[in-house]
Amino acid sequence: MFDTRYLQEEADICIVGAGAAGGVLAKELAEAGMRVVVIEAGPFRDPQKHFASDELAMETLSWEETRIVDGGDPLRLGSNNCGKGVGGGTQHWTAVCLRFHPSDFRTYSEDGVGVDWPLAYEDLEPYYARHERELAVSGPKHFPWGAFHGPYPWPERNPLSSNAEIFQMGCQKLGIDWCVTPLVILTGPFEGRAPCTNRGFCNQGCMPNAKFSTLIVHIPKAIQAGAVVYADATVVEIEMGKDGKAKGVVFVHDGMTYRQKAKIVILSAFVVENPRLLLHSANAQFPNGLANSSGWVGKGIMVHSSDDVYAKFPEEIRFYKGSPVMASTQAFYETNPNRGFVRGYTLHAHGSRPMSMAKGIATTAGIWGRQLRELMLNYNFYGRVTVVGEVLPAPWNRVALHAEETDAHGVPKAHVTFTYGDNDKRLLEHAVKKAEEILAAAGGKPVVRTHDTAHLMGGCRMGKDPATSVVNRDCQTHDIPNLFICDASVFPTSGGGNPTHTVMAIAARTADAIKTKTVRREI
Ligand SMILES: Cc1cc2nc3c(=O)[nH]c(=O)nc-3n(C[C@H](O)[C@H](O)[C@H](O)COP(=O)(O)OP(=O)(O)OC[C@H]3O[C@@H](n4cnc5c(N)ncnc54)[C@H](O)[C@@H]3O)c2cc1C
Ligand code: SF4
Repeated sequence: MFDTRYLQEEADICIVGAGAAGGVLAKELAEAGMRVVVIEAGPFRDPQKHFASDELAMETLSWEETRIVDGGDPLRLGSNNCGKGVGGGTQHWTAVCLRFHPSDFRTYSEDGVGVDWPLAYEDLEPYYARHERELAVSGPKHFPWGAFHGPYPWPERNPLSSNAEIFQMGCQKLGIDWCVTPLVILTGPFEGRAPCTNRGFCNQGCMPNAKFSTLIVHIPKAIQAGAVVYADATVVEIEMGKDGKAKGVVFVHDGMTYRQKAKIVILSAFVVENPRLLLHSANAQFPNGLANSSGWVGKGIMVHSSDDVYAKFPEEIRFYKGSPVMASTQAFYETNPNRGFVRGYTLHAHGSRPMSMAKGIATTAGIWGRQLRELMLNYNFYGRVTVVGEVLPAPWNRVALHAEETDAHGVPKAHVTFTYGDNDKRLLEHAVKKAEEILAAAGGKPVVRTHDTAHLMGGCRMGKDPATSVVNRDCQTHDIPNLFICDASVFPTSGGGNPTHTVMAIAARTADAIKTKTVRREI
């Protein structure tokens, strides 16, 4: 339903995008008594009505609009990257909930690569801890790596999937530390939601609501506190006042164009759409796009390298069972000068649905026809390990506006360019070799490697210096005091583990900064 309560008024806060960050911001700011409007391009789904245990049907959870991709390693966008709808990417994510390590925030100081964040691990630590409690994160009693060693507030998953057991077996044989993966998936009843039933459709949305998403947790709490959510409403422009401040946004709903005025505008529309909106909203005062005096809007986008290794086992594994990721290692996360590259990676035992396995093999391993059919006939005998590898930021990896093609609303399509750097490639080869060794040590025969990426980050990076970054440590743009950007796009570097716990910690910290600055009348 299109609730027009604030449409004729100036809201305190207008948030563009109801994903991982947008959901946290909406809840925190509405609960602080602010009049919050959230504008979300996709639908407001009801898990029981609109989610299905069906791979093909649930591809609609993702942002499928065309983007033009190029570069040395063009990205596969669509279902692999961004969500669409209230909940954003948390509707179809795997719910792996890892903190970044302290070294992730200072790669330049430690390794002479990337750039240091204007935040330290200690700045986010209280927010990580709070979310783990508030969202009932399940995980091991002892987590071996980084600064936080557990215990997690809720017990770890038990039983493990057989794919996770294979991983555990392989790691133990090789003397590699492993652990049960911290997940935002319930291992006990919590806030009226039942624990996980292990059917394995997490990437298709989780009908029973055992998996956390902002759709079922933060947004309902925000609405309870008075926030208004416009769903199926696409923001096409940020409107600026003559005073150099943002006035609000223009959005399209059901073919009609509307304006929402707001004292503070926060973009939480993810890595591709934030730069696209900022660049498209250029005007006489900001001819190169909003918040772009540094020229860094759209630059420095990153992914995680995320190749998969499939190994065939003599006995059935059935890796569709259980949540896709249940066992992981970060034993290769920190820089080791003997490896020939800096930074590091996480490895996950990662189950797969049949369609996604067949698609990945056909499109990236070049296996087609009879060979693909034979491989898929043995689907039940495969185990898989997936890499989450750090990729360093580079200015040539970027989002720009396409020079000719526009979308249905007349906004230029996104033009996304991506090429791995040398360090990224060496790191990935090391990670794939370790994945193969783990599977082989468990008794499997590595058969196929597929190329993939995951977790877009960057494009509006945070930094101390307005000449080389777009937002400050509070996610406030350097150029426009009442325009904030808060989501995965503010990451200056990518870390070597899944990023969304950090996205949500930054969002909660930003909400606190906005509350403080508002009280002090600093915005
Ligand atoms: C298959 C898959 C599995 C994943 N698994 C994990 C995992 O296990 N662990 C982990 O840490 N991360 C995981 N991720 C990554 C995770 O989904 C993202 O890191 C996270 O969702 C990013 O949050 P965000 O707030 O930046 O953006 P999003 O959550 O993507 O939210 C952006 C929202 O903005 C909306 N929007 C965009 N443009 C507009 C516009 N113009 N107007 C209005 N609304 C707009 C979108 O529809 C979307 O809802 C996974 C991602 C995928 C694709
Ligand atoms: S395995 Fe658990 S978390 Fe995943 S979809 Fe099923 S109930 Fe939800």
